Parts: sequence; structure tokens; C-alpha cells
Amino acid sequence: MNENKKPKVFKVLKVIAPILLLVGIVLIILGTAVFPQTWGGRAVGPNPALFVPGMIIAFSSIPCFFIGYMTNINKTMIKTAKYIQEDNKEDLTDMANTSADIASGAVTKTAKAIKEGLKEYKYCRHCGKKVEEDSKFCKHCGKEQ
Ligand SMILES: [Zn+2]
Repeated sequence: MNENKKPKVFKVLKVIAPILLLVGIVLIILGTAVFPQTWGGRAVGPNPALFVPGMIIAFSSIPCFFIGYMTNINKTMIKTAKYIQEDNKEDLTDMANTSADIASGAVTKTAKAIKEGLKEYKYCRHCGKKVEEDSKFCKHCGKEQ
């Protein structure tokens, strides 16, 4: 896909995601190190008023990163697939040919089996062995039916 044909949302998310992450981290640092929760003048833990929104903002950057870079991931995957394909062209062709041979062999065998199953048989009047219904001569003893 052409870079300037991409929907604007991807570009916007690519810009917003690192800002969200940065703002989130700053709020977490402010809430834990600079303005912690105090009790009787002593710091007792992170300040929820800064720490909680910091965590929410920081974590909300993850889907923004993911969606923003989705089209790039797609491009990379296509490039990788093409590279693999080019690099293994002979092997892939061999594999495709082998599969085609196996498939055609199976089809032939199945068709033969169906044909064989549809055949009518009778027993030779002379030797008593099984012969095809429409055969004029016995394939075992050679006598006419
Ligand atoms: Zn016979």
C-alpha cells in the first residue's frame, strides 16, 4: 500500500501512541517519586491520583502502537513471505509437483476402484473361475462363454 494512500488514522495513532506512553510514564514517576502518598509527613506509597491515570494512559498506548504499526507489520510479512518464496522456489515447485502427482495418483486409483466395483461378474462355464459379465472368452481357460 502506498504510504500517502493509507487512512489517516494509522498516522495519527503512530503520533499519539508515544505521547500517551510518555505522559503515562511521567504521571507514574510523579505519582511515585515526586508526589507520593504521604501519611504524617512520610511517603507511604504511590499517589493514586497520579499513579492510576498514569497506568491507564501508559497501557492505552499499547493498542495505539499496535493499530498504528499494523500496516507496517503487514508489509514486513509480505516482504518476508516473498523472500522465502524466492529463496525456495525450486523446493516449493518440487513440493507442488509431488503433491499434484500424489493427488492425480489417488484420483486414478479411486476411479479404477469405482469402475472395478461397478463391474458385473459371472463364473466360467468350463473352469468355474470368475470372469467379467461381458467377456466372450474366459481369461483363465480361454474357452468361449
Ligand atoms: Zn474358464
